[in-house]
Amino acid sequence: MAVGKRRPVAGLIAVFVVVVLVIVGVRAWQLIAPALGWTSPVIDTVPPELPAGLERAPLAILHFSKTSGFRHREAIPAARASVEAVAKRNGWAVFATENAAVFSDELLARFDVVFGNNITGDNWTAEQKAAFIRWAEAGGGFVGVHGAAGTRYRYWNWYTDVLLGGGRFIGHPVSPQFREARVNVEDGDHPTMSHFGASFLHTDEWYSFEASPRAAGSHVLATLDESTYEPGEDLAMGDDHAIIWIACPGRGRSFYSALGHPAATYQKPEHERMLEAALAWAGRTGGSCP
Ligand SMILES: [Zn+2]
Repeated sequence: MAVGKRRPVAGLIAVFVVVVLVIVGVRAWQLIAPALGWTSPVIDTVPPELPAGLERAPLAILHFSKTSGFRHREAIPAARASVEAVAKRNGWAVFATENAAVFSDELLARFDVVFGNNITGDNWTAEQKAAFIRWAEAGGGFVGVHGAAGTRYRYWNWYTDVLLGGGRFIGHPVSPQFREARVNVEDGDHPTMSHFGASFLHTDEWYSFEASPRAAGSHVLATLDESTYEPGEDLAMGDDHAIIWIACPGRGRSFYSALGHPAATYQKPEHERMLEAALAWAGRTGGSCP
């Protein structure tokens, strides 16, 4: 009799354990999936209303920080504050949105530069992608930082291979995630690099790419000295570990820097000066491409 009474209790405990395991498993997947890029895109169809007077600014910047993949919660506001400070100093206009429906022929035409603030995942519809391509290749500017390489080639080949000039992100070291490394300036004459010396030390989450964007025709501005942070065999790129570079998609201009996981990166004056020069260069106020 006693054994017979215990069985329903054991069954309830088993059901409870299974339910708890399912809940924990689902929650763990929700946390892990964005880091792996396994998320469903959120589709925007109704565009935001743009402020008047964008055309009057010497440079109009579309600040875009939508993340359909991993979200850099500390870096995004820090990068935005840096861009807004730079814009204020220069009298530039910044319109910030996470609404991808702004990527239309009509609305993009009102901007000089798109600032990709750690945008990850697949953020655009096919029509929005087509409008972005037309605008960029007709002379638009793009400046992307760090997680902006998180719109991976499996989502959009043009983004990684043309706009980012071959920046196919493959991963970064963990344990420790943040390491100090030496950044070697490859083109000290470029306006975005001229305030750095021949090299500088910086602590960050260091990205690796499938191949150096140089192989895709991009102009590498800075490389990482791998011996100073030891990325490991799977992430090693060798002597040409590009970390900051420019590309020329059609008649457009594109600048990408993999620096910028820690918010502190954007608080460094020399980093802000680089962003300022990058926005100006991408907005065609000076220099050539490359
Ligand atoms: Zn990161």
